[in-house]
Amino acid sequence: MRKFFRPREYFKPETLEEALNLLAKYGESARPIAGGTDLLVKKPPEVEYLIDIASLPLDYIKNDGEYLKIGSLSTFHSIETSSLFKEGAYRILAESAHDFGQATVKNMATIGGNVCSAVPSADFPPVLMVLDAKAKIVSLAGERIVSMEEFFAGVRKTVLRSDELLVEFQIPKPPPHTGAAFYKLGRTSVDIALVNAAARITLRSDGVCEDARIALGAVAPTPIRAKGAEKLLRKKEIDEALVEEASQTASEETKPISDVRSSAEYRKEMSKVLVKRVLQKSLKRAKGE
Ligand SMILES: Cc1cc2nc3c(=O)[nH]c(=O)nc-3n(C[C@H](O)[C@H](O)[C@H](O)COP(=O)(O)OP(=O)(O)OC[C@H]3O[C@@H](n4cnc5c(N)ncnc54)[C@H](O)[C@@H]3O)c2cc1C
Repeated sequence: MRKFFRPREYFKPETLEEALNLLAKYGESARPIAGGTDLLVKKPPEVEYLIDIASLPLDYIKNDGEYLKIGSLSTFHSIETSSLFKEGAYRILAESAHDFGQATVKNMATIGGNVCSAVPSADFPPVLMVLDAKAKIVSLAGERIVSMEEFFAGVRKTVLRSDELLVEFQIPKPPPHTGAAFYKLGRTSVDIALVNAAARITLRSDGVCEDARIALGAVAPTPIRAKGAEKLLRKKEIDEALVEEASQTASEETKPISDVRSSAEYRKEMSKVLVKRVLQKSLKRAKGE
């Protein structure tokens, strides 16, 4: 018989401990719900207990000088409007939030939900990947820190256990002369991405590239780093020809599928275009132009 999404109980814990106890008690048949903009659209029929985490104190943005710490319940609206993201490499956080859905969704959708949904086209994972972000994950058994690259395990699959919650993203302070950029290609500006890409470039004081990171979404079962393209850029003086070569290499590293939104060929071609744009913009920003 066909099963429908009809949770039999809804909980609204006020503390993290209460939420973790509920997750431990109900296991695989429970699901945390944050903004609900993914879960209530997807409506997974196996969910019997909904644990609404929206009241937990996880909507914050702090900068202790060494790390930027963002609570997983921060909405895209709070990321877009935070005064901490007006300049420097962190500004891609606000820029990607700006490009995210419509205002109504931005007010509900959380960054934790975006990452935990593990949808390949999600906008925040490539941004977090180039910023070298780590996820703080907690359960009654304790806490663990997982890098964004280790976090995703497949389409809608992550390394999270059913008794765990993602509570915080930790982003190390970027070195000086670092620039970062994000681009998203969608059918319209509020549609989910056909392809998205982020880059971060750090230059030495003599202008040579010290480090480069490139990440793409919607071109593989999980968000990916284009490590071959990154390697081409490191320890070199980046010019237009090198940007072109790195963009081509990044596109060759993608493994897109064809679906209702786009053909695989188009995604591959657009990966090249988007990587070129994010590299050009990151380079300009790293030079302070
Ligand atoms: C109209 C519309 C437009 C959209 N536009 C975009 C867009 O432009 N870009 C984009 O990337 N996405 C977009 N989305 C998808 C969705 O809004 C985002 O992925 C959103 O960030 C999900 O966050 P949420 O808080 O609503 O998650 P929820 O729906 O509450 O949860 C999503 C999943 O994550 C789990 N979860 C949530 N928080 C945690 C946590 N802290 N720890 C462990 N598990 C957790 C839930 O159990 C669930 O499985 C759009 C959706 C809609 C409906």
